[in-house]
Amino acid sequence: MPSGKVHNLINTGAFLLIAGGTAYAKQQGHIDPSIPEILAFTGTFFVGTFMMSPDLDLAEQNVSSKKAWGPLGFIWVPYGKMFSHRGLSHTWIVGPLTRLGYLTIILAALYYIVTALLPDLKTRLTFENVPRTLEFWQPYILGYYISQWLHLLADGVSPDLRAISRTFKKKKR
Ligand SMILES: [Zn+2]
Repeated sequence: MPSGKVHNLINTGAFLLIAGGTAYAKQQGHIDPSIPEILAFTGTFFVGTFMMSPDLDLAEQNVSSKKAWGPLGFIWVPYGKMFSHRGLSHTWIVGPLTRLGYLTIILAALYYIVTALLPDLKTRLTFENVPRTLEFWQPYILGYYISQWLHLLADGVSPDLRAISRTFKKKKR
């Protein structure tokens, strides 16, 4: 399996190709991404590459994605213990969601604790202005997911189409 360093190099190389392809498509008049869209894609692509990689399923050891969190790296240890290496964490749709969900739970717990200690803060922290359109979130989602899929491709994990169809079949019953 490629090491964290090799994964980071592959993803960075792929990013340059995507950037080049995007610049060419823009020049040809096929697409016209805005600056905020480009920044959103770039941001989540590199956060996904360096800090949220599927190999966090090994966070009980010292993996590159855990190190990128610095002193906060320990928050991923329970994730590493929960998920077996190259198991659910290394699937195409659900895998990236497990890491987002895990982080959301930690942030929600932190929010709960902080606002319980500082009730004044709760009135000031409103989430009303957070955009709720897919159009807004699209470049963020794409950047994150493409960074995860490049990792899976480098690991030799093919898209889990069968797993996806199985999930839908189960829901129908
Ligand atoms: Zn991996």
